[in-house]
Amino acid sequence: MQGLRAKDWQRLAMTNPDLPTTPITQDVLTLPRKLAEGGRRNLIGMTRAQMQEALVQAGTPVRQSRMRLGQIWQWIYHWGVRDFDAMTNLAKDYRALLKTHFSIDLPQVVTRQVSADGTRKYLLRVAGGHEVETVYIPEENRGTLCISSQVGCTLTCSFCHTGTQKLVRNLTAGEIVGQVLVARDDLGEWPEMGQPKDETRLVSNVVLMGMGEPLYNFENVRDAMQIVMDHEGISLSRRRITLSTSGVVPEIARAAAEIGCQLAISFHATTDDIRDRLVPINKRWNIKTLLDALRDYPKASNSERITFEYVMLKGVNDTDADARRLVRLIAGIPAKINLIPFNEWPGSPYERSDWERIESFADIVHKAGYASPIRTPRGEDIMAACGQLKSATERARKSARDIAAEAGL
Ligand code: SAH
Ligand code: SF4
Repeated sequence: MQGLRAKDWQRLAMTNPDLPTTPITQDVLTLPRKLAEGGRRNLIGMTRAQMQEALVQAGTPVRQSRMRLGQIWQWIYHWGVRDFDAMTNLAKDYRALLKTHFSIDLPQVVTRQVSADGTRKYLLRVAGGHEVETVYIPEENRGTLCISSQVGCTLTCSFCHTGTQKLVRNLTAGEIVGQVLVARDDLGEWPEMGQPKDETRLVSNVVLMGMGEPLYNFENVRDAMQIVMDHEGISLSRRRITLSTSGVVPEIARAAAEIGCQLAISFHATTDDIRDRLVPINKRWNIKTLLDALRDYPKASNSERITFEYVMLKGVNDTDADARRLVRLIAGIPAKINLIPFNEWPGSPYERSDWERIESFADIVHKAGYASPIRTPRGEDIMAACGQLKSATERARKSARDIAAEAGL
């Protein structure tokens, strides 16, 4: 079987139920925070505690370090400043000290595409030349930024383009926060000094629904979201951040406790047999185990419902019987159900369900008392819709050591 690509495995597995399917996880590494030229450390992505410690290590007197941290934090995350010289409430020699020890680095924007419907897709280059995608979706009353948590994804859901990408590494906290900063830069969303505060937010919501499985990169995602929620900075409410997981059960309670954001589950099937094939992590944590964990999710209440994502695949998971099974399964869990018409990508092995089918499914779910919006695909013309993301650089799978070497470590 050696030499088979992930997608070939999936095709084979779909037609031969007896075959083992793709591995559930592959090795993956987090690169340490990259040292810029001259060994300078990037301040972006450090938690408050980490930044304070780094300032002390760089020679800031301990008793001043809290105040300095507050000042620098505000410059970076409230005002969007990237240049130490613009931090005018710091003495010149202190700015010079900061410059010798630190940098303020964002992922590099390689391309920016704007769809006919206003959706923007950024291809970003991170350490090692690896690439991720970030998508901005403007809507009438909000603007949602869909960010990535990994380069590629170790999970190989058979309907997802990202799952076919071979090169996988975790993003650092700085690379995750950096996506929010890049979007705010591009949208011109930093306050202007001396101007009245503008309360309208262009990036009003963040969803961890780009490339990667966020709960397989827990600490970096947590630290990044804590920075995004910090009141002295971007200050997004935890209610406006949604983390989507394919079902990494042991980390779900931890996400509630340590991040506190909203939760979305990539559910997609109502029997283990079908879910095993669509979302292979189901073989490790099956539907019952997943739902039990969700029943225990401490934040689930009517005001903070769990979102069940359900991709509509023609002839695979879209019957009325599926819809009825779905509502029986999730009974007792405060939930809403997002129906996602399948978005095709080159070579994808499925088709989108017919519109009447999707509506009939939605109707059953709706009558059972659940909100069941059908998610209109956005940015399809630039391949920015759910599950279409995959960085353009297609490479052979590399060893952890190769990846680290490429990142200059
Ligand atoms: N890895 C996480 C988050 C990223 S995927 C997760 O799986 O939850 C974001 C959502 O898009 C998931 O619900 C995913 O299942 C869905 N998705 C993936 N490929 C898709 C496709 N081709 N069409 C529609 N939705 C897709
Ligand atoms: Fe990974 Fe999510 Fe795509 Fe599955 S759907 S391969 S978990 S990004």
